[in-house]
Amino acid sequence: MSDGRELAAAIKQRARALGFQLVGITRPKPLPGFARYQRWLAAGYHATMAYLAKERALAGRQDPHHLLPTCRSILCLASNHAPAPRDAKGPDAARVAAYALGEDYHDVLLQRLRALMRWLERELGYPISHRIYCDTGPLLERELAQGAGLGWIGKNGMLINPQWGSYLFLAEILLDLELPPDQPFRWDRCGNCQRCLQACPTQCILPDRTLDARRCISYLTIEHRGAIDPALRPPMDNWVFGCDICQQVCPWNARFARPTGDPAFQPRPALAAPRLSWFLQLDRTTYQAALRGSPLKRARLEGLLRNAIIAAANGRQRAHVPALRAILLKGESPALRALAAWALGCVGSPRAVAALRRAIAREGDPQVGRAVEQALGRALGGQAC
Ligand code: SF4
Ligand code: SF4
Repeated sequence: MSDGRELAAAIKQRARALGFQLVGITRPKPLPGFARYQRWLAAGYHATMAYLAKERALAGRQDPHHLLPTCRSILCLASNHAPAPRDAKGPDAARVAAYALGEDYHDVLLQRLRALMRWLERELGYPISHRIYCDTGPLLERELAQGAGLGWIGKNGMLINPQWGSYLFLAEILLDLELPPDQPFRWDRCGNCQRCLQACPTQCILPDRTLDARRCISYLTIEHRGAIDPALRPPMDNWVFGCDICQQVCPWNARFARPTGDPAFQPRPALAAPRLSWFLQLDRTTYQAALRGSPLKRARLEGLLRNAIIAAANGRQRAHVPALRAILLKGESPALRALAAWALGCVGSPRAVAALRRAIAREGDPQVGRAVEQALGRALGGQAC
């Protein structure tokens, strides 16, 4: 395969056989989106994700040659993870972002990228310097994908492909190999649509197609450690990990997304129909066993419990009082006990009030004790959360 076009076609065919629906090639060059990224950091929109502003994180995003000095081509790939239609309603329903229902995409796709490289080196008969990434390195992945012709960056900040929508995992291979680049995707197919901006519960989508992570439910439920601002709790509704609203409302998904048939991304049993009661009762043993290899572990056990407690408060379901009571009276984490008190105050039923009264008598931590008293005052006074 001496001809570059023939080689590029063979690589794309092999990548599709490995489960990547979209494959394109672009050249490593400084990207116009880097200035936007710098402005985004300067405004503090990256919240507590300080790693995004580190020197190395900036260098790779500015120019991929910082990651592989001999890079001559970048293979951009995308793998579909669109979910099957699900009913996320009902008093005990919890919501989990579609990308996180199955196996951890980093593990799955990095293995496939390595297999692709093994095949390529076998075909060529010599090793090639390369670096592989799947949301694992400092690259402007969506810009690169657009440059490789895979789609455009929508107003919701997602890469959208006109045949597949936006439920796509993105991956890249930086190659010390000359390959003919594809035409960049030059069209903005969002047009006058505003659906994602209107539907976002926290109004965190910015005019330049980036997000204010400080208010994004995905960031809050996954990356943010510690307490969540009370003002941001109601819009979280029953999302316990991530948020898909700005993708769910996108007409390109409504029309073109096809549920993935990839066995790796099918929902694991605990997440096929996620239940709030399951999350509220999550202990270390179940967490380890049911979520082994799951993206949900990014939020950690304490983060998932925090999110579930907030979701229970938002739902005001009396059926969740026993689980909240158990966290309040027996939980090891003072932060979660205080949050459970707050949630019981939101539910405000007689059993919730009884649980708060019981906790006042037992609670040894003064800060949690104050949270319990406040929650009890709110419940008795009928004040909203
Ligand atoms: Fe808004 Fe949710 Fe999209 Fe974040 S993930 S921008 S909160 S709709
Ligand atoms: Fe673009 Fe509309 Fe989709 Fe938002 S919902 S990304 S504006 S097409």
